[in-house]
Amino acid sequence: MDAEIIAIGSELLLGSTIDTNSAYLARQMAAAGVNLFRKSVVGDNVERIAATIHEALARADLVICTGGLGPTLDDVTREAVALALGRPLEFRPELLEQIAARFAAFRRPMSESNRRQAFIPAGARAVENPRGTAPAFIVEDQAGTVIVLPGVPYEMRFLFETAVLPYLRDERGVSDVILIKTIHATGLGESVIGEMIADLMQQSNPTVGISAKQARYELRIGARAASQAEAEALVAAAEATIRERLGRNIVGDEPLAESVARLLTERELTIALYEGTGVAPIFRALASAPGGTERLRGVMIHPLDRPTDEHASASLAHAGAISAGDRWRADLGLGAQAASSPDASGFTAVSVALVTPEGSRQVTRRYDLHQPEGWEFVGTLALDLARRYLLGEAE
Ligand code: AMP
Ligand code: MG
Repeated sequence: MDAEIIAIGSELLLGSTIDTNSAYLARQMAAAGVNLFRKSVVGDNVERIAATIHEALARADLVICTGGLGPTLDDVTREAVALALGRPLEFRPELLEQIAARFAAFRRPMSESNRRQAFIPAGARAVENPRGTAPAFIVEDQAGTVIVLPGVPYEMRFLFETAVLPYLRDERGVSDVILIKTIHATGLGESVIGEMIADLMQQSNPTVGISAKQARYELRIGARAASQAEAEALVAAAEATIRERLGRNIVGDEPLAESVARLLTERELTIALYEGTGVAPIFRALASAPGGTERLRGVMIHPLDRPTDEHASASLAHAGAISAGDRWRADLGLGAQAASSPDASGFTAVSVALVTPEGSRQVTRRYDLHQPEGWEFVGTLALDLARRYLLGEAE
């Protein structure tokens, strides 16, 4: 079965709302083994929505729309689906009763405009929405199947999981299992990782893909099979190969910050940070994990106040790590210090130091700190230094 997704709402085109519904639906389609070939975003305009649905149906068997089911006149998805399929809108008294019952339950008066939500294209199957007022609906047409879900993300997800997925499984024979597993890695360049697993990345089942964010990598293994067990076996084999080739550069099933937080807890160690910049990249990185700051004793932030070259930044990172560790009597001190200006190539030397009861270790790298994301590399570098120490890796 080939599918397309259409996200409807002018706020999505204006960029004021991020289209998270399509991303969610895309993941669900992948997991159900439905081929997704296109996603579109269209504003709240009857003709344009109808045209988008019409075009999608010319290519795909299934079109899933979200948004535009609200009670106000700017929500026109119902009219657009009716127009695209050449069916009139039909009033469904039972839908109005459900909507009225919901208002009654909240002891709020139902407004006349909510009546609009009880209209769906003739012949459509209504899907009751216990999480909101907008009922969803499914139209099985000669041209293809159109499934329309509300835009509010939690209503959409609820209806997808409780109504759409069972419909696709039980009535449309969608049965493949697609298993996606994400493994986190860091410490190598994206192209280096790419070369190390090039053969896996060219396979079609399981597929292996990499996405990179400031030196943190997500390796996604996706396997498709007729059963869960077969899909798991395919994923496990690819994962074993990747782990063997990348070794300690594999962080594991959890992202870097979570891994560091967990290792600190397991080893019953505390940590204090020295940040030689107000951006506080190490703290930001650590705090991005749930419970990331549980073993954190303190953070010293000292924006650079004098010209500092690469050598000076290395000593400041080291001295800062010692001083933050002492100040809060933490087991580990972790510090970062950038030089005060970039070198001729435009890159700035950044030094990261980790001070432990057994001694200290330090690395210096160069980053493009003109762009704010550049600092995230520093957080990654620092946490990875700590991770490798916590794993008992020699320097
Ligand atoms: P609607 O069903 O168009 O009235 O949408 C209701 C609300 O859901 C909107 O105000 C948005 O905040 C949200 N919403 C609509 N479409 C999406 C989408 N594709 N992704 C995330 N949120 C959405
Ligand atoms: Mg809307």
